[in-house]
Formats: sequence, C-alpha cells, structure tokens
Amino acid sequence: MKPIYIILAILLSLLLMTAVSATVIWPLVNERPVLEDEQAIAQTPTTTTTEAPQPEFPCPIDGEYTHEPNATRRPLAVMIENHVDARPQSGLSDACVVYETVAEGGITRFMAVFLHEGVATIGPVRSAREYFVDLARAYNALYVHCGGPATVYEVIKNLDVADLDEFANSEAYWRIKKRKAPHNLYTSTEKLWSKAKDRGFESQVFYQKPNFKDDDAPELRPSNASINLDFSKPEFRVHYEYDRNKNTYNRFMAGQPHKDAANNELISAKNVVVQYVPVAKIADDPKGRMQLNLRGTGQAMVFQDGRVIFATWQRQTVSEITRYFDSAGSEIKFNRGQTWIELVDPATMRVDYQ
Ligand SMILES: [Zn+2]
Repeated sequence: MKPIYIILAILLSLLLMTAVSATVIWPLVNERPVLEDEQAIAQTPTTTTTEAPQPEFPCPIDGEYTHEPNATRRPLAVMIENHVDARPQSGLSDACVVYETVAEGGITRFMAVFLHEGVATIGPVRSAREYFVDLARAYNALYVHCGGPATVYEVIKNLDVADLDEFANSEAYWRIKKRKAPHNLYTSTEKLWSKAKDRGFESQVFYQKPNFKDDDAPELRPSNASINLDFSKPEFRVHYEYDRNKNTYNRFMAGQPHKDAANNELISAKNVVVQYVPVAKIADDPKGRMQLNLRGTGQAMVFQDGRVIFATWQRQTVSEITRYFDSAGSEIKFNRGQTWIELVDPATMRVDYQ
C-alpha cells in the first residue's frame, strides 16, 4: 500500500470513529459539571414544581381561599341535631355556613352547609324540616337528612331538591355504638359526594353567592363584644364572645364552650346574623312542628368585626340566597370564614348584645 493510501485509510477510520463516538458521547455531554449561574436557573423550576400551589380560589359560600376543585363541587346541606343527647356534634367547625333555629318543643336544630372542606365525621344527622329544605335549595345543595314528616317529601319533590335521605341512601351513613338511636347517625362528605355520583345527581350546579370583604384592621375593632340568644330553655341558650385578635365570635351553648367532637375545636364564627322571621306552629301538627317564612323581607342584625349592623333581609324566590342590606341600602359583605345564621322569632325570642 502506498503511503498516501495508508494516510487516507487512517483518516477515514478516524472520521468514522469520531462519528460513532459522537453519538455515544452525546448523552454524556449533558452531564458535564453545571456552572453556578446555570445551576441557579435550573433550580428555579424545580422549586416551584415541588411546592404545593397556594389556595387562591374563593369558596363561593364563605369566601375562604381554597383550591378550585373544592369550590366547584356541589354543596351539601346536612341536618344536624342539637338535642342534649346529641352533643357534642361532629363536623360543625368545618361547615361554611350554619343555620340554627327551633325545630319543636324548644329544641334547636342546625343545617350545616359544607363545601370547601372535606369532613370525615358529620352528625348526628336528623330529620328534615320544610324551611330547611327551602334554604338548602338556595345553594342547589344535596340535601342530607334522616327521614321527616310526609309534607317535607312533597316540598323536596316540588322544589326539585337533590335528596340524599338516609332512608333511601343508607350506604352513605353509619351508626355509632357509643350513643343510642336516634342520636347516633353519622356521615362524611366523601360518602355523600360518592353516593350523589352513584345516583346520577349533577356534580356542579349554579347558585348565587354572597359578597365578601377582608377583616377590618385590628385598630378599628372593639376590645369586647358579645351576643346572647335565648331560644327557649336554658339548654339551648347561645352566647357568642368576640375575640378581637382573631376577629371571631367564639360560640357557647348552655353556658359551655361549644366544641366540635371531631377535632375538639371551639366553634367560632367570622359573622353572626340574627335574622327575624315570622314563626308559627303548624295547625293540627301532632308534634307541634313550626313553620318559618323565609322569603320576602324582614329585619336582621349582622355582627362582624366586633360591631353590629342593623339590616334588612331580602329573598324573593327559592333559588335566591338571602341578602342583607344596611340602613343606606348597601348590601352587607361578609368577612371570609364561617357564618352562623340565627333564625329568630321576633315575638318570642330575646336577643341581647354588647
Ligand atoms: Zn367554604
């Protein structure tokens, strides 16, 4: 072989080797030591992807910031009893809004509306009342109860309310052994939403939402405030004590702190509404059940930021939520967080506040 061919052969084999090694080496090239400024750039996306996103979607019922899927699912309106044997209840501290009024015999009952929090234990669940069905419809909520008078079922049907009655959906409930029936029926948001899916109820619905505001600055808040509601007997007496630091109203019942059995937390509200509604006994009802007129207009007091606002409530149709207006006619905005709405008979009930 002539020297020129030997050189050409060497050159050719070198070229081939380079091509082959280039393909082999290519992935390794990316693993070269990273320069400091490149490191800084590379770290930025890694950090943001590992951190949980901040909740920035307001819950449509109480304005608390949450993640979008928690705010767009269907609200649950649960009947929770307040018989002395039903205390302490579970789940109330995680509700968005709680309604309280007298069912019958002076015994109060709650309707707790759940949305942005998933709650593992809710109860004891009790029977439906017509006026609570009427309120549940304003949120287009899944209505959660254990039976009720025959007239309630007519209202549920007429108002086209999505009914998760325990009688027909028992898989979504359980009874605990520690307490005697009927004060021992419990449920959870997970079981209820899952049952609603099985039943083919719509999972996303439209309903009106109230307006929200941020808390007043601490220097604008008074150091003390309290509310007393005398529903009937001493066992059902309600007291709220204002906490200036947290800007909440701590709840007491029958002189005791009202705690949630599920988490041992003291129940506290960001807003307390005393809404005056005409209450009457249903004629000829053997159990002395009541009738509340929750549509139209009437007087109310809205407690927030340690102060009271004298208000007028307004709700014309069943699909509307109740709105509250101050004396200048402006709609009252709620502080973000739990609201308690006390439905009070102006003729028989005493409300004191400081
Ligand atoms: Zn909420």
